[in-house]
Amino acid sequence: AKAAGYGSYLVFDQTMREKAQYRLRLEGDLRTAIAQNEFALFYQPIVSLESGKLEGLEALVRWEHPERGMISPDDFIPVAEETGLISAIGEWCLNEACRQFAEWKQTFGDDAPGFMHVNVSRRQLLDPKLTHTVRQVIEKHEIPPKQLHLEVTESLIMEDQKTFIPILKELRKIGIKVDMDDFGTGHSSLSCLHEFPLDVLKIDRSFVVNAKHVRDYAALLQAILTLADNLELQVVAEGITDTEQLILLQALGCEYGQGYLFSEPRLATEIQTLFGAHIDW
Ligand code: C2E
Ligand code: CA
Ligand code: CA
Ligand code: CA
Repeated sequence: AKAAGYGSYLVFDQTMREKAQYRLRLEGDLRTAIAQNEFALFYQPIVSLESGKLEGLEALVRWEHPERGMISPDDFIPVAEETGLISAIGEWCLNEACRQFAEWKQTFGDDAPGFMHVNVSRRQLLDPKLTHTVRQVIEKHEIPPKQLHLEVTESLIMEDQKTFIPILKELRKIGIKVDMDDFGTGHSSLSCLHEFPLDVLKIDRSFVVNAKHVRDYAALLQAILTLADNLELQVVAEGITDTEQLILLQALGCEYGQGYLFSEPRLATEIQTLFGAHIDW
């Protein structure tokens, strides 16, 4: 038993060291990636569930690592967040999404999407210059403020409501929209939703996935949609992958949806082929 314990300690130690080394390398690579601009934005449609019209886009960052290929944001955003490198990456994402959005408006006119959604992380939200930066970026690209949505996760807001609520209020004063992302995973109670300065609820895909199997989830979805309606919040259901989910959400009166059923996130040049057409499912 003693030997086994010692052995497993060694293994644990080694994994810890490997993790630390991996992280260090990732951090170093991230610094290079910023300097050499190895990032790309992919865009995923947000669709009207009634008409199939592509109403908006969410910008999702990718890292094109020269040796390791495409790295998902779930793998590098946490490291970027811990090291503070997120400030540079986040600002690049915001500017690039707005630049591309403005270009599409010029090129496609009325067929261009009406809204651009950009994710913001904890450290970006805590940056006292964020409001100023956002204002500068939308002025530079001449984007009407109400067409820019910033997405903030529910769990982040719930972590420290006293800090984040005033920041979200400041952002909304510019006229931009604030979305609560991954709603339903961050333990906020429905009864305090009216206290948050919000425009859109993005319902986490776990609800959408479970709704057709578990009756409680469908009932919960119904309750969320009714409340959102009363609070005059728009709702986007995330992670729609099949027509059964779509039909249920339509029946419940959910206005917007996002998910692989409509389109995966794609490069700008690919996603723009969908503009103007109604998305079939
Ligand atoms: P998120 O904001 O919740 O973004 C939605 C994620 O779900 C995306 O993963 C998207 O590709 C994926 N997704 C969309 N439709 C479906 C579907 O039908 N089924 C399934 N299984 N997944 C679907 P992605 O692009 O890997 O991004 C992961 C997370 O990384 C995002 O979750 C967001 O929290 C973060 N992230 C992405 N881009 C940025 C960024 O520019 N800045 C910051 N701060 N975070 C970002
Ligand atoms: Ca998001
Ligand atoms: Ca989400
Ligand atoms: Ca998520």
